[in-house]
Amino acid sequence: MAVRHVGPFVDGRELKEGGAGFADVVNPATGELIARQACCDAACVGQIVRSSERAFHSPEWRRVGAAERGKMLLKLADLIEQRAEELIELELIDVGKPITQLRGEIALTASIVRFYAGAADKIEGTVKSTEGGCFYLTTYEPYGVVAGILPWNYPLVNAALKVPPAIAAGNAIVLKPSVETPLTTVALAKLCLEAGMPKGIVNVVLGSGSSAGNALVAHPAVRKISFTGSTDVGRHIQKLAADRMKMVNLELGGKNAIIVFADADLERAAQAAALSAFVNCGQLCVACSRVLVEDSVADRFLELLAAKVAKIRVGDPRDEKTLVGPMTTKGQYQTALKYIENARGEGARVLCGGGKLEMSGALRNGFWLQPTLLADVKPGMKVHDEEIFGPALSAVRFSGEEEAVRISNSVEYGLSGSVWTANMERGLRMIKALDTGIIWVNTMLTGYPQIPVPPRKMSGTGVELGMEGLLAYCKRKSAMIGYDDQAPVGWGL
Ligand code: NAD
Repeated sequence: MAVRHVGPFVDGRELKEGGAGFADVVNPATGELIARQACCDAACVGQIVRSSERAFHSPEWRRVGAAERGKMLLKLADLIEQRAEELIELELIDVGKPITQLRGEIALTASIVRFYAGAADKIEGTVKSTEGGCFYLTTYEPYGVVAGILPWNYPLVNAALKVPPAIAAGNAIVLKPSVETPLTTVALAKLCLEAGMPKGIVNVVLGSGSSAGNALVAHPAVRKISFTGSTDVGRHIQKLAADRMKMVNLELGGKNAIIVFADADLERAAQAAALSAFVNCGQLCVACSRVLVEDSVADRFLELLAAKVAKIRVGDPRDEKTLVGPMTTKGQYQTALKYIENARGEGARVLCGGGKLEMSGALRNGFWLQPTLLADVKPGMKVHDEEIFGPALSAVRFSGEEEAVRISNSVEYGLSGSVWTANMERGLRMIKALDTGIIWVNTMLTGYPQIPVPPRKMSGTGVELGMEGLLAYCKRKSAMIGYDDQAPVGWGL
């Protein structure tokens, strides 16, 4: 396969170089070089941000009203569907996802874009009746230039979580994909141009986080940062942003539990746990990586679950029957492998998998791991407490609601949780007791563009999705207009 070039995207064109040399982009299924990426130095990032600033302030963009921005986003959604094959191919070779999963991601991406297309002209301020001879109103305005920093696990979907609300609100956005997976981000920026967004409204910087990412966050013209990635980097970004009082949205790591009570539909719960833990090879922030199961049914449930995990078909992403592909990056492959190998030493019992997966032929140099199910895991073990971001599911036994809540809440993350029970009152009690931003009851991983995702604890701050996710790209303004020249001026002064 010919090695592609991918470069930073600015003012409607892709640059040949960005001042910081080139980085290899590798197909994780084969280990083969697929692209050479031109990385940005700080000067190049500065040039790209200035282009976004010019585009934001341009009369051309100022004239585009909210309904018109909505139409551009509708066009973008259509283009994403029309170019699905191309986008799927890029994501397949770059991220290593199975083709069937990618078809679903195209539909998901288009649906998020359409939601924000419809929402663009529905941003409403408020008018309040106050005493003292004034009308009081709140309005929303775009920030100007915003940054969207993306992880490597869902590059296209994550870009769709950031570009549409940013554009619907009237901003210009600079995207920064992971250095591991730049292909669909640049492709999406080109589609934005084709959808009618003026040059410079969607730009892309490429390169490492510590260089290009840092320069983007620190740039004075970038007024808002929406970051999806690890907790460590999120913490760093928040500190950097604080120096200039920038608004920050952080969607970070998770250590999500699925809690199975004895009265649950065990077959369905096992199916949900297997899907949620191993889809995308466990590289999903809301994936369940712990299954908490009530003592009295634990043996039966684990038997059901182990049978399902053993049947998961790992293999060539191009194969229609493949359910799970490779790990996306070599670094993450090594990290997850280390957690899996160390789990035995911590006292875990391997029920399925437990290490590397040897593949042959073209796949022999890919980053392959076995779907791994671990029993006898306890809170306090690293495999229980820390985010692995790989195909490892830890089973923990509990007895009674109180203990389930205690174990589930014992980790530092608070992204999502899932409860399986036939007792709806218990389901409601668990919704109240679990300290996570998303809770599923008798379901798992379901979501809609309308439903906000508000992470808790070390899983982040702010909100993505829903109308709140749109307002996250707007600045508020409060205005008071006096209409009574006899009314006192000042508030209690
Ligand atoms: P990462 O934090 O290493 O990198 C994320 C992005 O930040 C990349 O584009 C990277 O280049 C950039 N970056 C790194 N250092 C930077 C710096 N100093 N300044 C600015 N940018 C910098 O994360 P990752 O390894 O790409 O992704 C995996 C992580 O993402 C996991 O922890 C996962 O849970 C999390 N994630 C969270 C969600 C969510 O919605 N909560 C979704 C997907 C992934």
